[in-house]
Amino acid sequence: MTLNHPLPDDPLKFIQRCIGQRKILWTYHVNIRLKGRFIPRQALIESYASYEIIEQYLKDKYLPSYLLTPELGRVGGWLQNQEAAFMKCHVCGSKLKPLITDLPFNFSDETIVILKSLPVLQCENCSEYLLDDPVMARVERILEKVNVAAELEIIRYAA
Ligand SMILES: [Zn+2]
Repeated sequence: MTLNHPLPDDPLKFIQRCIGQRKILWTYHVNIRLKGRFIPRQALIESYASYEIIEQYLKDKYLPSYLLTPELGRVGGWLQNQEAAFMKCHVCGSKLKPLITDLPFNFSDETIVILKSLPVLQCENCSEYLLDDPVMARVERILEKVNVAAELEIIRYAA
């Protein structure tokens, strides 16, 4: 597979512009990590002007990645060229395809929430899931209303 992702001249500005325009894909697992560190998605997005690049990994397979620090904590991300014919999985470089599926979210140590009929992007090869920002925003709003006394809650995602 050939690597074909031209780097922007100023990666920080590029990242800030993408986040300002909500051109973000969230990994399925970031949801859990953000919750564990008590960094709300909205705070992360709104602080984009304060981002600084701590480290860059330009040779990362399959997309160059950056470790950033907003005022709140550290965030990692991959540069994705959305003008490309298709978007690539950051794990294995394969094609991502849109899919409607059911996904579990660990709401807390005791509570699991299964969201049904969730629109995601799934890698055709390694099954990594990515969530578009509007979907992630809605997932957060749904999770806020979860009954914390329940061990398992099944909710239908409806846009
Ligand atoms: Zn993959």
